[in-house]
Amino acid sequence: MHLNTSVSELKGVGEKTVKLLDKLNIHTVGDLIYDLPRGFMDIKEPIEPTREDVGRLISVKGHIVKGSVHVIKKGRVMIFAKVRISHSEVVVSEDKADVISLIYFNAPYMKKTLEAIEDERIFYGMLSDARGLTLSQPAIFTTDAYSDMLKVMQPVYGLTKGISNNQLRKLIRTAFDNTILPGEYLKDEELAAFDMPHIQSALLSLHFPLDIAEHKRARRRVAFHEFLTFFLETHEDEAYIDRPFNEPMIPVADTVRFIEALPYKLTSAQLRTWEEIEADMTSGICMNRMVQGDVGSGKTIVAFLALLLNAANSHQGVMMAPTEVLATQHYENLCTLADKYKLCIRPCLLIGAVTGRKRTEVYEGIKNGEYNVIIGTQAVITDKVIYKDLTLAVTDEQHRFGVKQRQALALKNLSDEPVHGEHKGEAGGGMHVLVMSATPIPRSLAMTLYAGVKLSVIDELPAGRKKILNCVVDKSYRPTAYRFMEKEIASGHQVYVICPMIDESEGLDVENVIDYTALLKEKLPPSIRIDYLHGRMKLAQKTSLMDAFAAGDIDILVSTTVIEVGIDVPNATVMLIENADRFGLAALHQIRGRVGRGDAQSYCIFINTGDSEESKARLDVVGKSNDGFFIASEDLRLRGPGEITGIRQSGEFGFKFASIYDDYSILEGVKDFADMLYKAGNTDRLREIGACIDEFGFSAVDFRSI
Ligand code: ADP
Ligand code: MG
Repeated sequence: MHLNTSVSELKGVGEKTVKLLDKLNIHTVGDLIYDLPRGFMDIKEPIEPTREDVGRLISVKGHIVKGSVHVIKKGRVMIFAKVRISHSEVVVSEDKADVISLIYFNAPYMKKTLEAIEDERIFYGMLSDARGLTLSQPAIFTTDAYSDMLKVMQPVYGLTKGISNNQLRKLIRTAFDNTILPGEYLKDEELAAFDMPHIQSALLSLHFPLDIAEHKRARRRVAFHEFLTFFLETHEDEAYIDRPFNEPMIPVADTVRFIEALPYKLTSAQLRTWEEIEADMTSGICMNRMVQGDVGSGKTIVAFLALLLNAANSHQGVMMAPTEVLATQHYENLCTLADKYKLCIRPCLLIGAVTGRKRTEVYEGIKNGEYNVIIGTQAVITDKVIYKDLTLAVTDEQHRFGVKQRQALALKNLSDEPVHGEHKGEAGGGMHVLVMSATPIPRSLAMTLYAGVKLSVIDELPAGRKKILNCVVDKSYRPTAYRFMEKEIASGHQVYVICPMIDESEGLDVENVIDYTALLKEKLPPSIRIDYLHGRMKLAQKTSLMDAFAAGDIDILVSTTVIEVGIDVPNATVMLIENADRFGLAALHQIRGRVGRGDAQSYCIFINTGDSEESKARLDVVGKSNDGFFIASEDLRLRGPGEITGIRQSGEFGFKFASIYDDYSILEGVKDFADMLYKAGNTDRLREIGACIDEFGFSAVDFRSI
């Protein structure tokens, strides 16, 4: 089998499993192998717990107390049982519990399972003091199975209802056992220089390491691979540095008039950025610029100005956004502005939801030039779209796209009719490229990643905007938070709630959108309108929910991080982030940026469910600062190496496995390595590496969360 063999070819994978895997976006054997664990179970010897252990993942050894298993029904089914702990010493000291409770939610079948247990077992789960010392939803092991588990680290995967962690782990194991992975392309001395294992064993170690050290080395190899892929792909960009632009554009009065007519004054950082863009576009050289600005700094309007200048010069421009919801919002926004200020802009929207006759009409209008600003998702880079005279490509939230998509957009000005096998657009014309990023990264890092790209930084928020007030609290604060949300809603505002998961999943004790919505409906008065949103919903549904929220028809929107990207609803003033310790600091800052966009005071509540000093220290960074650049630099400083039991969200800048922060030293090493290959002009080696990298099929960006 190969990486792109369908999962259905694997032994034991029937139609039902294929459907379940499909939900997890796993279609091929390679998808299984690249489905990295979200963390590892922190498995230790069983203990005799005391109150001190509350909030920790622990295991206890003992017997189910006969007759103690019963069902409690209150809203959702709850199974309750007691365990008599096996003590290692004859004399039980007073603070050590003799009996602890177990609870299971929504798992009626657990009644029979628990009743059937006679022998000693090991119960592994989070200790709380809900009903005396209580283990929530513990996993149950025989003593033999448990001692086997102690020997190796146990991966924990993202799951969906119907597939267990154990099943998925076994499937991944089977995938490895039956697949011929592409070979190692680095030389032994190169691997040694970076202290890395062979790539094939690295992939295996990411799932099944013996210890943390092995996992760490494996991560290095995979990060190296991903960065190298990135540098090889972007190297072509450098060929385009200072490419001439056929006919320099001329500055127009429309942009000046527009800036003056706006109901607000542009900040000086916005003005400076706009001037830099205008200078690029009127220079006769192709623009290649990145605008970095913190969430809410007002990047959109600057992009609109560029599109306006381009349109006034009688050209076409396109703006690509990572989600349909965001594209739709930009489109509606631009239509309103074009109308109100009589701009020479004729926009159209191109997203998956535009279908049938309307889609044909949009394609036609793009081709014949009727539309001069096209706003859409990746749909704008498909072959079906034929532009008439595209000269400006804007990518919003560029860190959500991969190199390939960004480049595809930048090359989209090729004319429809190839002339002598060559696209005539390439010879003449030229393309201005503008990418917008809300992930502030230190300048030096940006320079390493994007050679030849000029940088504008919007380092100022619009005046009069109130600072978001933050608090980092533990879960005991939840009732207070709910009362606070109620109060804000009563005064006409709206609330976002973010959970890490979509629905319940085993092994990880974290909040999910579905159950949390039900919980809030139970805890809050029925007059409060609560709804939810997540990435697995159909777009039409997502859009109508976002529209309803924007229109004020929903008071509380519970969501996964789908909502992270660029949405603008100024009336929302409260952001509650559940299991905040599960997210990276950059992601938390992005999520928080959904509030604080209007005149009213906004609040962000980070619920810390981690139990380490370290998670508290990390959350305090976002708790004390609203400054994205400061957070990014603290993030870099605080990320100690080797921490893997916690969940670290990678996925910054379209990297699926590597993190530009965690793996910064590797990033620099890879950059030097790639430069060296090019300088040495070793084309055979480059070709060989390129071919291997293609086989791994690694460069696809992970859109599953969007
Ligand atoms: P982001 O940089 O996160 O993309 P947006 O472009 O969505 O930010 O802008 C956030 C909000 O601020 C929008 O509602 C926008 O209309 C508003 N805005 C942008 N520039 C200014 C300004 N100079 N003064 C006041 N409000 C502004
Ligand atoms: Mg934006």
